[in-house]
Amino acid sequence: MPLFRHAAFEISIAEPKGLPPPNGAEIAFAGRSNAGKSSAINTLAAHTRLAYVSKTPGRTQLINFFRLRNGAVLVDLPGYGYADVPEKIRRQWKGLLENYLQERSNLIGLVLIMDSRRPLTELDRQMLGWFAPRGRPVHILLTKSDKLSKNEAASALVSTRKALSEWGDAVTVQLFSSLKKTGMDEVESIVAGWLKAVGDEIPVYVPLAETKENPRPKGRKAGG
Ligand code: GDP
Repeated sequence: MPLFRHAAFEISIAEPKGLPPPNGAEIAFAGRSNAGKSSAINTLAAHTRLAYVSKTPGRTQLINFFRLRNGAVLVDLPGYGYADVPEKIRRQWKGLLENYLQERSNLIGLVLIMDSRRPLTELDRQMLGWFAPRGRPVHILLTKSDKLSKNEAASALVSTRKALSEWGDAVTVQLFSSLKKTGMDEVESIVAGWLKAVGDEIPVYVPLAETKENPRPKGRKAGG
């Protein structure tokens, strides 16, 4: 079963104090609004409307938590970089993201979604600056790669890697397309590697929700 398939929604929060207690290893997905984050999550989860982004930037920004079948958690962070956002919302976004990326103990890795035609904006670098110093891995999806020619895609990959070389092996980069469903195996294998590396260090304390769509995997006990 592919890692993200059949992820199930658990909770949304709007403020750092609403964060649920750590309960399984978390993998966060972040990206500039319109970069293709919701499409990437929905493609990986094989679910057309799991991640759902409000296209109204004035609204409260939420962090959404989805439970994977293996007990880990996919965390969908609010998109950033909307033009004309009221200052209050911008401050709320910054507080929520900065706090989560810098402090969350069970956050083991970050998947950053960037439009392959416009990677590494200032805010993308800010996200890296908040998280990468923790020494945990970041994997970048250069998405919408179907919009580039083969040569353009290869050159986007090389130049993004080069621009991030200061981070060494901690930051990895790949091409991805939700439209063509390309690059799925690569991101799954990278994230599976992160989960394998932490092993049982981050236990699931609370029993996983069990539904018809999300039955408990065979052999997994509640809370285990
Ligand atoms: P988000 O704001 O980052 O969640 O972005 P969305 O996932 O909502 O995508 C923004 C726009 O880009 C939508 O119109 C999508 O249909 C389109 N899009 C997303 N991923 C791809 C892709 O891989 N290829 C193409 N061609 N379009 C994409």
